[in-house]
Amino acid sequence: DAPLAEVDPEIAEVLELELGRQRETLEMIASENFVPRAVLQAQGSVLTNKYAEGYPGKRYYGGCEYVDVAENLAIARAKALFGAEHANVQPHAGAQANAAVLHALATPGDTILGLELAHGGHLTHGMKINFSGRLYDVASYQVDPTTFRVDMDVVRATAVERRPRVIIAGWSAYPRHLDFAAFAEIAREVGAALWVDMAHFAGLVAAGLHPSPVPHADVVSSTVHKTIGGPRSGFILSKEEHAKKIDSAVFPGQQGGPLMHVVAAKATAFKIAATEEFRARQQRTLDGAQILAERLSAPDVAGAGVSVLTGGTDVHLVLVDLRESPLDGQQAEDLLHAAGITVNRNAVPFDPRPPRVTSGLRIGTPALATRGFGEAEFREVADIIATALVDGQAADVAALRARVGRLTADFPLYPGLQQ
Ligand code: PLP
Repeated sequence: DAPLAEVDPEIAEVLELELGRQRETLEMIASENFVPRAVLQAQGSVLTNKYAEGYPGKRYYGGCEYVDVAENLAIARAKALFGAEHANVQPHAGAQANAAVLHALATPGDTILGLELAHGGHLTHGMKINFSGRLYDVASYQVDPTTFRVDMDVVRATAVERRPRVIIAGWSAYPRHLDFAAFAEIAREVGAALWVDMAHFAGLVAAGLHPSPVPHADVVSSTVHKTIGGPRSGFILSKEEHAKKIDSAVFPGQQGGPLMHVVAAKATAFKIAATEEFRARQQRTLDGAQILAERLSAPDVAGAGVSVLTGGTDVHLVLVDLRESPLDGQQAEDLLHAAGITVNRNAVPFDPRPPRVTSGLRIGTPALATRGFGEAEFREVADIIATALVDGQAADVAALRARVGRLTADFPLYPGLQQ
């Protein structure tokens, strides 16, 4: 029963260094967040020892009386939070949830229609070497080349032409709302099922600050670790008529034993997501992204603006367009990293640069909102980023790093926590 530092000092050091990195830098990867300590505690618990294949009350293993309570709580809370008829909380991750959704709604060889990866879609929505692209006949829609928004006439025309079995609405890099009612109407028209992947914006939906896909979609999948700020994992909501198919697609279709420590942590995350404090945090997340979009493109901040795709944002992220910038995506990511700000480079639609370099940055505000940032801090963050991107290779990195250091010192992360 020796502690980690004794059993495996090399891994103990990794944990310590990573905690230090998270504390001392500004985390702006749009898909990341900081889980509350209650979630860390549930995940680092003895529930990791338990096998529980099956569903509460219908397990293939004995001794599930307590983990059943945890899973039932997670299910009930997910349903209540999103107003869903059915919830499956077992997917290990977003990709596993999505594999199960396609397993339930389609047969290999069927046509699926989703947003193209290079235009903001996700790997699991039909990328060539992902399971979705290998098993299904993939059709995709792109954003409009001038507005950079999804054009529902294009979605409809493609759906009418390709007659997909499943239409996918959802994204990994898109700064605007989707029209779920219009997607549902198109799905009805062509006889397709509508699947919404709300992995990115689920926290905003839970807070009532983003239109909900639940009334419109046959099935909604999500992760728990992005805007919701829970454990790294997935879940699926559906209409009652799809419940049996979804459950059997998750287990035994795609997975074996659920990760019960993570299921318990999901229950805790859903409980927190129903609170007023959570709603206020999601509001700060949105406000932060608005401030970022405005100040990055405001010429008074750093002498010259930085272009932002679609001219702004409705959600928790901003897509910086570097097509006209001397900095490419890789250089911009590296420059901000040197200043203590973590973001990821991201292809912009119709990107002239190769995918490993890109002409874009995806910058998100959820983790900093969780850290406690409000308007004043997001203004300062936006100005640091704008200065870096406008000054480019001539930027005074040490001065920018010092400004980042003042912000991280003012908002301590996991105070007192030792790894
Ligand atoms: N769906 C969307 C829209 C995503 O953005 C992501 C993650 O980036 C996923 C699914 C997959 O989630 P995971 O990384 O947990 O498999």
